[in-house]
Formats: sequence, structure tokens, C-alpha cells
Amino acid sequence: MDFEKSFTEIDFKEHLFSNKVFQIASQVAEKTNVKLFLIGGFVRDIVLDRERDDADFLVIGNGPEFASALAKELDVKSISIFRNFGTAHFKYENMDLEFVGARKESYKRNSRKPIVEDGSFEDDISRRDFTINTLAVSVNKEDFGRLIDTYNGIEDIKNKIIRTPVDPLITFDDDPLRIMRAIRFASQLNFNLDDKIKKAAEELRDRLGIISKERITDEFLKILSSAKPSVGLRLLQETGVMQTILPEVANLSGVEQRKDFHHKDVFIHTCMVVDNISENTDKIWLRFAALMHDIAKPQTKRFIEGIGWTFHGHEEIGARMMDEIFERMRLPLTNLEYVKKMIRLHLRPIALVDEEVTDSAIRRLIVAAGEDLEDLITLCRADITSKNIQKVSKYLANYEKVMAKVREVEEKDRLRAFQSPVRGEDIMKICNIPPSKKVGEIKKAIEDAILDGKIGNNYEEAYDYLLKIKDEFVKSQNVTN
Ligand code: ATP
Ligand code: MG
Repeated sequence: MDFEKSFTEIDFKEHLFSNKVFQIASQVAEKTNVKLFLIGGFVRDIVLDRERDDADFLVIGNGPEFASALAKELDVKSISIFRNFGTAHFKYENMDLEFVGARKESYKRNSRKPIVEDGSFEDDISRRDFTINTLAVSVNKEDFGRLIDTYNGIEDIKNKIIRTPVDPLITFDDDPLRIMRAIRFASQLNFNLDDKIKKAAEELRDRLGIISKERITDEFLKILSSAKPSVGLRLLQETGVMQTILPEVANLSGVEQRKDFHHKDVFIHTCMVVDNISENTDKIWLRFAALMHDIAKPQTKRFIEGIGWTFHGHEEIGARMMDEIFERMRLPLTNLEYVKKMIRLHLRPIALVDEEVTDSAIRRLIVAAGEDLEDLITLCRADITSKNIQKVSKYLANYEKVMAKVREVEEKDRLRAFQSPVRGEDIMKICNIPPSKKVGEIKKAIEDAILDGKIGNNYEEAYDYLLKIKDEFVKSQNVTN
């Protein structure tokens, strides 16, 4: 797509015609005498050509009243109204529709809850966080589909930059959550942060202290869910926000050199691992485990003469650190054990590459990882960040080897749990022998033949095999008897 050219050609009107809800909304606005606009992510994502199934409406007038009138017209029965906030929400077909009355906000320093008054279109637009979120499209009859771009939002989308409509020091001081939102949008959209935003974020990062942990975590997990999370992780680090919200990750930065040995910067390595894994999975807790897999490297780092750097036990200590991090970040505890398991086991598969590795070592991995073995291997593969292509393919092949062994042992175990398809009574009849130890021995010989792959695991082949070995066993019976 020719990114630049496409902007001048965007036909917002056409987009609004794509769903009849916008025309009906326009008629209801006309009838109830309010002005109505689409705003925020919906408009931004039309420009970015991203699909979405929710839309924010700005109502110049009473938001909930308008939402109720529209819901009635659309025959929607279930509507949520938040009178205190002047907002309302309902679902129509597959769309989430959000309504907010235009407002003017002023802030007190100790809270992100503003004093809210009714406001004009301009008041409302100027209180919004970023220029790319101030774009509005009219849903009114007289200029249906007209774009209103007060703060050059289109230009900023074109330049892939996050900027604030007013001085970011004021924007962030009013509502510090916007620091997280700025980095979240940069990460989701792969945009840059304006330098002034970076500086303001750095200066005001401690103001995040007035924001609830849940909201910060919510934005953090959105960063981790983006296509290339390192964009956001690096911005968090660069602005010092990481140090404020997750110092353990911030402390992964830094490289020390002793003699000829230096270890790679664990923060940079971690960013690469998270990006790698994000190419292969949308599972947020697997991504989270990737972010945390080396978390205890700083405190386990030792320099050993003649060997170099070691990080002995970092996987176990790292796993244990999750209790506190989950608690502090208010992360859902249902995912705690899974994340701990991934961290604890992330070095285990590579230790099993050796030819001589025993079945029981493989079996211990199968039991320890349980149903999450595939995820563990996905993590191990993502953990390969060497720039040397030959090394990468060698390491990947090693994991293939381990997984082949896993499948082999699983197959053996599955077979071991089975019984010879030819039962004891058949053996006694065919061999013409009474119940005895011998029956068990013959049965075991058949089972071994199946386990060794000499014959298939079915009645016909087991029966033929029995006929073949029968004489030998009966003979030996005669000898021993
Ligand atoms: P998405 O839905 O993709 O996360 P969005 O831009 O729609 O992105 P929402 O959180 O749904 O974001 O908010 C809708 C709009 O409300 C935003 O586009 C922005 O204009 C405004 N907004 C939301 N939160 C804030 C805030 N903390 N400060 C200022 N404006 C905000
Ligand atoms: Mg939205």
C-alpha cells in the first residue's frame, strides 16, 4: 500500500455507509437536536486501515440520553448507562458502541479524577490524550463523513509519531496514566514517541504512583500483546518508566566485562526473546514468561576464573520471584504456576540433548512440563538469539532431537501400559499348557516383540508370533520340567 497517497483518498463517508448504524445515528441526532461525531480509535484505525468492532461517539449534549434514544430506534434492549461519567454503552450486532457527552476537564494534583463540566466540541477535543486520538468524523446530516483534524492528527499518523495536543508536561501531570498509554500506542502501532513526550514521561514517571496498579498493568499487558512488544519495552526502559513499574526488568540492563569475557546485555536479549516468541504465539502468559525467563540473572551473576560468567540457579530463583511480582502488579494468580513452571524449566530441554540421556530424564521433563511442554519448547526456541545462522540452526535442531526423544519415550510408555492382544487363556489353549509361570513368560515375549517393533500391536500378528515361538517355549518347558 502506498501509505502517503492513501491518506488523501480516504473516504470517511463511504466507511460510515458500511454500517447502517451510522445513518440511523445521524437521523436520531437530527431528531433529538444534538451534534454527533465519531472519535478516537475508530477514526484513527480507519486511517491506519485496521479493522475494529467498536466505536466511540462524541455527543455535544447529553451522552446517555442520546444513547437511549438511539438504542430505542435500533430496538436494542440492553444498555449500560454511567450517569456520573456522562457515558453509555451498548452492543449492536457485532459492534460495541460507546457514547460520551462533550466535556471540559480540570485536574487536581493528587488524583487522576478530573472535575468535569459540560463542554463544547473544542473543549472535548483538547482534553484528549494524543493528536492521533483527536480525529473526529461528523455523523451530522449537513456534513456527514467530514473529517475534523484540529491538531494535525493525520500528519502525525503519516509520520508515525505520538504527540500530545498540548504541552505533554501538562497532559501527563493531569493524568499520569497517559504516560503508559503513549508507550502502549507506540508499541501497538509501531510509532515513535515525540521527544517532548519522552522527556515529560521521564520527568513525571513517579506520578504513576497515583494510578491504580490494575490500570498500569492493563496497559503493560497491552504492550506485551502488541505485534512487536520490544518497541514498548524499550520505550519504557529509555524513559525510566520500567524502573518505576517493574524494576526487576529494568535491572536486566548493563554489561560487564572482565578480561576477555563479557556477557550479553540481558535486557536486550530479553527484548529479542519476547519479539521472537510473539511471532509464534499470542498467548500473553507465554509472552510474559519470555519477558521473565532470565529475571534472576543480575543477582546470580558470578565471574569464575578460567570459565567466565555464570548464572547458576537463575531459573529457580527467577521462578520464585514471580510470587512477589504477580502480587505487586495485581496479575491474575491463575497464571502464576504456569509462568513459574516456564521459567523454572527453560534450561531443562537443552540439557537433554546428549546422546546418552536416559529415558527417565526425558520422562521427568514430560512429567514436569505436563501439558505445557509445547509452550516450553516454544520458549526455548525463542531463547535462541545468536546472530550466527549456523549456530541458530544447530540449536534448533537440538530441540528437534529432544522432542524426537520425548515422542519416542511417550510411545514406549503408551505401549508399556498395554497388554498382549493374545490373552493368557489363548496361550494356554494353543500351547496346551496349564496355568503356570510359563504363560506369563510367553505373554511377555509377545509384548517385548511389539515394544521392539518386531511385530505390530494387533491380534493377528501376535497370534502368528505365538505360533512361531510356541515350540521353543514348550520345548524349554519340557527341559525344565
Ligand atoms: P483503543 O480502543 O484501540 O485502545 P482508543 O483510542 O479508542 O484506542 P480508548 O481508551 O478506547 O482508546 O479511549 C477512546 C478515546 O478517549 C481515545 O481515543 C482518546 O481520545 C480518549 N481518551 C481515553 N483515555 C484517555 C485519557 N486517559 N486521557 C485523555 N483522553 C483519553
Ligand atoms: Mg476505544
